[in-house]
Amino acid sequence: MRQPGRAARLVAAHARDGSTCLWCGRPLDGRVTATTDHVIPKVKGGPSWLENEVAACRRCNGERGHRGAVDWLEECERRGWTPDVGRLARVLDDLEAAIADRGGQRRARPHLDAQRRRLAKRTDRAA
Ligand SMILES: [Zn+2]
Repeated sequence: MRQPGRAARLVAAHARDGSTCLWCGRPLDGRVTATTDHVIPKVKGGPSWLENEVAACRRCNGERGHRGAVDWLEECERRGWTPDVGRLARVLDDLEAAIADRGGQRRARPHLDAQRRRLAKRTDRAA
């Protein structure tokens, strides 16, 4: 499947999720620079698909680096931010479905499974 370009993916992520940073909840209104963040990092095999990308502020994207999504989510909570756990769970579920549909992504799969298991263990997982 052909994926739209980066700018178009950012627009689509905003349309899907709303214009706030997944990690810190700040509105991405122009004063806070919006970026696309790979939920499964590229270094762990995460694809540049819309299903693997969320809108995040430049600060969170940069500070997260290559950390796994749930590790970084928990770091955000330690900092007193309000990451959108429900959105992360949805994105991980959608990515799982996209990989099942399109195949491939052999490197990303075990990492994605581990992230989904960790998130499912949390009691605050949104429906
Ligand atoms: Zn942020």
